[in-house]
Amino acid sequence: MTHTEIVRKTLKKAGKPLTVKQIANLSGLKSTQIRSVISPAWLKPFVNVGSQQYDLAERALKGAKYRYAPTKDELKLGVLQAVDEIEVVLDCGKSGLNVNLIDKSGKRYALKRRQAAKTKPFPHYQGIKPFYSKSKITLGDNIIFTLLDYRQKLFRIELIKQFERNEQAISVSNQKLADFVYDILKYNQQRYEQVFFFYSRVMPFLKQLNTPPDHLEKALAEDARFKVWRYSLEALSKKDKTPPKWGDLDVGMSKYLFESRRHPNVWCWAVIENDQYGRYGFCARCGIPLQWFRVLGWVHPEADPMEYEVDRDEVELDPKFLSIE
Ligand SMILES: [Zn+2]
Repeated sequence: MTHTEIVRKTLKKAGKPLTVKQIANLSGLKSTQIRSVISPAWLKPFVNVGSQQYDLAERALKGAKYRYAPTKDELKLGVLQAVDEIEVVLDCGKSGLNVNLIDKSGKRYALKRRQAAKTKPFPHYQGIKPFYSKSKITLGDNIIFTLLDYRQKLFRIELIKQFERNEQAISVSNQKLADFVYDILKYNQQRYEQVFFFYSRVMPFLKQLNTPPDHLEKALAEDARFKVWRYSLEALSKKDKTPPKWGDLDVGMSKYLFESRRHPNVWCWAVIENDQYGRYGFCARCGIPLQWFRVLGWVHPEADPMEYEVDRDEVELDPKFLSIE
């Protein structure tokens, strides 16, 4: 048996989430052997359910609800994009197999993943068009995906019209999701991460929420603690600078990241020297002092570094960003 199979068997037998130490005691494997197969990643059969406990994805994620609002392009083309968290959610750790959807009347839809093509310029799932027609979905409406069977990649789908959205409950869930993502990024050395790589850690958290939050880009859009951007090789190589049709979604902490015309086309880090960060930030690229603004975050001065003198007393501070973690 492989280490993965032993860990799977141990968790299955225990019937509940376990810590690495508990798995080691029950299976006879070393902690390092367990960590190498169990660390949360998008293609593994295990998930981190918090408090240093791990569980079988098929057990921990059953019943998790994911909310998505298809874009204008997706509705027009009759597809779902297969990028970022949608891909993590629907692929259930296994690419290649069809995603199976079932609506409330019992009708089934098999979704096939397709690469970007000329007419559909982003990776996408094909096969949802009949549901779009049947449900009369329009822009702003949501689809709720409820995970029924992880190994079968089977989801129940339900249409929520825009006017049926419980905005108050969704906004509470969005806030909880934002706090959860903030905690993930806080321990990330780069202070940002590609959504595709961390979303498997969000999945068990979704199950704890009664009302599914909006999809990540929307849920974090109004939260000044985050920078959300799309990284696209295609856009970097393009001369005309029009926004890319798609790119990998990245989420970073505003406290550490900024954009500046002084360093075009890249995200820059703020070097924060002491625990009063927010007050003393420096550009990691040229060393110039940065200014902190409550809504904008770090602002890089336009002037030449040699001529610039910062008046620190005038820097506007937001206590929310200054709390020591
Ligand atoms: Zn700089």
